[in-house]
Amino acid sequence: MTGLQIFKLLPNTNCKECGYPTCLAFAMKLAAGKEALQKCPHASEEAKAALGAASAPPIRGVKLGVGDRAIAIGEETVFFRHEKTFVHHPGLVRRLDPTTLSDAQLGERLDDWAAVRIERAGEVFRVDGVALVEPADRSRGVAAAAAVAARGLPLVVLAASVDGAAAMVEAGKAQRPVLVPPASGRTDGAYVKLAVSAKIPLVVTAPDLDGLVAVAVEAAGAGVAELLLEPQAADLAALHRDLSQIRRGALDRVHPGLAHPVFLRVGPGELERAVVGVTKFASLVAIADDGGDTWLPLWTLRQNIYTDPQKPLQIEPGVHALGEPDDRSPLLVTTNFSLTYFIVATEAEGTGVPCHLAVVNAEGLSVLTAWAAGKLSGDRVAQGLRELGALDKVSHRTVIIPGYVAAISGELEDALGAGWHVITGPQEASDLGAFFRDVWSQVSQA
Ligand code: SF4
Repeated sequence: MTGLQIFKLLPNTNCKECGYPTCLAFAMKLAAGKEALQKCPHASEEAKAALGAASAPPIRGVKLGVGDRAIAIGEETVFFRHEKTFVHHPGLVRRLDPTTLSDAQLGERLDDWAAVRIERAGEVFRVDGVALVEPADRSRGVAAAAAVAARGLPLVVLAASVDGAAAMVEAGKAQRPVLVPPASGRTDGAYVKLAVSAKIPLVVTAPDLDGLVAVAVEAAGAGVAELLLEPQAADLAALHRDLSQIRRGALDRVHPGLAHPVFLRVGPGELERAVVGVTKFASLVAIADDGGDTWLPLWTLRQNIYTDPQKPLQIEPGVHALGEPDDRSPLLVTTNFSLTYFIVATEAEGTGVPCHLAVVNAEGLSVLTAWAAGKLSGDRVAQGLRELGALDKVSHRTVIIPGYVAAISGELEDALGAGWHVITGPQEASDLGAFFRDVWSQVSQA
């Protein structure tokens, strides 16, 4: 539907509750697939019915797994992140072949994977799920699928046979597994039937994009509610091209067969294939790694691309103990912009001087930006320190502020009240060691 056709179905009151100044502006965004009709609380049932297709995201959503480790993929609305934002980051699942593993080895490996938890810049990196290879021994496949599901990990079944896959799907049904038929050729109708009967997502594949569209339409017509597309590009250039064409075609609503998230397999030693997938729109990547340095670079790359440009990366305000500080340790102040926090915390820890680091809420802005925006005034810092209980942590009644905001020291001292002193720290966190040695040592002995 065009923007004008959609506009005729809206209330035309220009109430602005959708975040747009007029109904027409909102209608234009709906027509471009960049907004959801739900944002208009006054849309009639008639409009909702008529606009259902027009207001749906151009790429359908798929949910993997259940519970607190479930991940959502798809629902993307833009080609470039800066146009608005990417909605979901790609799920990175780890391929596991249980063929040669004993039950104990399998359980140990899954426990290790489930326990991975690395925090970086406010995001927790975890193994998003397990892509299980169907082994020749059906009982091994069933045991492995049950073991993955028992640990609450999203499950992807890399099928070799319909019957074997059906047994694994049944064993792992608590996690609503994603069914991936063998990589070559058109998707067998038997896999479509299995996905329909088990009500699970299905990956469809074909040698070229025309074929991929055809099998996707066929599977959707047969009743598969959640689909993923797997291109069969032979090399990285072709993969880049196919992934870009699928995304562009989906966003432009060229064909309903393209309106699905993309699945990608990555073999051992094919890190660059994973990189292309993460950077160019793959929504679910099954990675067969060698257990080496695959994951941290990929998680970091993903984090850098899939953050929301509309929201600064920020961490929760709070008081962080660096080392084992006591009431005589320095009390440093910084903002809750992630990058600022991690730089200051890392440099402060590196000095070996235990200290309290009070992270005040500056709406995710860095020190100078926050100050320029009026978010890091003396009054706000004093209020933040009180709310965080930071002032109760020290007996010396001294607060150290970043060197870039020396201008707020007087106002902050007034706001903190009698008996409190504010001293100006270094502008760069890398100079904290010299500051503790040359300045803090004098202050703390005074
Ligand atoms: Fe129009 Fe609905 Fe937006 Fe109000 S909320 S301006 S009625 S589209």
